[in-house]
Amino acid sequence: MNPTQKQKIIKAGQIAVQIREYAKSIIKKDKPLLEIAEQIESKIIELGAKPGFPTNLSINEIAAHYTPTYDDNTIAHGLLKVDFGVSVDGWIADTAFSVDLENSDENKKLIAASEKALQEAIKSVKQNKNLGQIGEKIQDTITEAGFSPIKNLSGHQIEQYNLHAGLTIPNYNTQSVKTLNNGIYAIEPFATTGQGQVYDSKDSGIYKLITPKNVRDKTAREIVNYIIEEYKTIPFCSRWIVKKFGTRALIYLKQLEQQEIIHQFKQLIEKAKGKVSQTEHTILIENQKVTTITK
Ligand code: MN
Ligand code: MN
Repeated sequence: MNPTQKQKIIKAGQIAVQIREYAKSIIKKDKPLLEIAEQIESKIIELGAKPGFPTNLSINEIAAHYTPTYDDNTIAHGLLKVDFGVSVDGWIADTAFSVDLENSDENKKLIAASEKALQEAIKSVKQNKNLGQIGEKIQDTITEAGFSPIKNLSGHQIEQYNLHAGLTIPNYNTQSVKTLNNGIYAIEPFATTGQGQVYDSKDSGIYKLITPKNVRDKTAREIVNYIIEEYKTIPFCSRWIVKKFGTRALIYLKQLEQQEIIHQFKQLIEKAKGKVSQTEHTILIENQKVTTITK
């Protein structure tokens, strides 16, 4: 990573910190998720960056991959996870926090567990522990709090325009003896009252470009070109495409998905419908020096 690239990821992190404070100030119980997502994403643009992916606002047993559709009328409630990304020229800072909107002690404990697990995991990275040990720390911290880590969700390496690159950082002890090299990594413990597993549920309306094959239809081609131009290989959502092309775009998104030009992610739901909390930071490692860039 050269100095210019480093500057970009640091800037993305600084904006993410401001966005987190902003998000906390605008989130209120019963406020439409659509409004919250739009306000967060507009603020990211106002601060000179772009969303690194569609704002995820997942409630209770939905662990991840819920972003409002253009006509969404879900209101904020329960245990809300706010997961957003800030992209500066494709260098993405990825961060998440959880809020309790129903004054529940259990929610608060669940949130504290994922927060503590993240702190402990970052400590382990600083001690140059291997992936199995980092995962074990997350697992132990969450288990000691009386909950379960979600084992089939993990942290990940980040590269330019590549949100989930290379290595994954487990939320339990996988016995992996690999250690983290120089690079950017997101660490994201999920704690649940449930079983500790998620499954693929409904369509999320969150997509990613896979192969930009040639498409014959004029509008479909315009949409693909727009995706390449605006998002490249970072995730986008139907809400953003509808904003640009109107609701007629929805049928084209379906076609592009069938042609495997774009891939649609599924909502991820906890298997036992347990409540889920998530806390996430992005870290930068350079020659053993670990910096949490979203703090
Ligand atoms: Mn995230
Ligand atoms: Mn992430």
